Amino acid sequence: MVKGEQMYEGKAKKVFAVADDPTLCIVDYKDDATAFNGLKKGTIVGKGVVNNRMSNMMFQLLEKKGIPTHFVQELSERETLVKKVQIVPLEVIVRNIAAGSLSKKLGIPEGTPLKSTVLEFCYKNDELGDPMVNEYHILAAGYASKEEVDTITDMALRINELMIQFFKTINIDLVDFKLEFGRCDGKIILADEISPDTCRLWDSRTHEKLDKDRFRRDMGGVEDAYKEVFARLGL
Ligand code: UDP
Repeated sequence: MVKGEQMYEGKAKKVFAVADDPTLCIVDYKDDATAFNGLKKGTIVGKGVVNNRMSNMMFQLLEKKGIPTHFVQELSERETLVKKVQIVPLEVIVRNIAAGSLSKKLGIPEGTPLKSTVLEFCYKNDELGDPMVNEYHILAAGYASKEEVDTITDMALRINELMIQFFKTINIDLVDFKLEFGRCDGKIILADEISPDTCRLWDSRTHEKLDKDRFRRDMGGVEDAYKEVFARLGL
């Protein structure tokens, strides 16, 4: 396995080709952090390691429970071998407790438990600011097929159940999170990452924020929050 050329550099990760296997890629997690569609930039020292190792742990846990993912093998503390996928251009957001944009939009105070799970789709497009779309928009614009939307919906809700259960064991409330899916051999599989960058994680007892909101909202203690999640995961 030979690390090939850089294919892409995103806000938090670089993606490299694998010179001797076109079906694989290597993801390299950075410490760079952005928020508000790239308007706020900074560094969270050690974040790349936490996000890589946490994501890999979550993906392996989900695989064991029957969720297909892009995970292949952890290569180093910041690098992971993954299956190459074509990303479905949707951010899939799952919410259990009101926070962030949902609280703002609907006026439901942050921390209010939702009476039922909320699933949202946003079209992945920085120039447009990742607009929220519904199934009609997705089908009309051709972002995904009806069958794919159904599969993604079922997988996202199942992942939510599994993650809520898991985080409960380490005294963390899973407030909300974002997933991305990819197409691989005609199948939908979970891709991207699951980390404190993409989840809202609150201490179950104190409700302390253990995620990227500390960076977004200039709350301080950002590195410590990532380290705390890492420690609770036993990593
Ligand atoms: N999220 C993400 N990437 C995005 C937008 C949202 O990972 O580009 C995650 C975010 O960390 C949170 C959830 O999705 O866990 C819901 O985010 P929300 O819509 O409330 O947006 P925000 O308030 O973060 O702008």
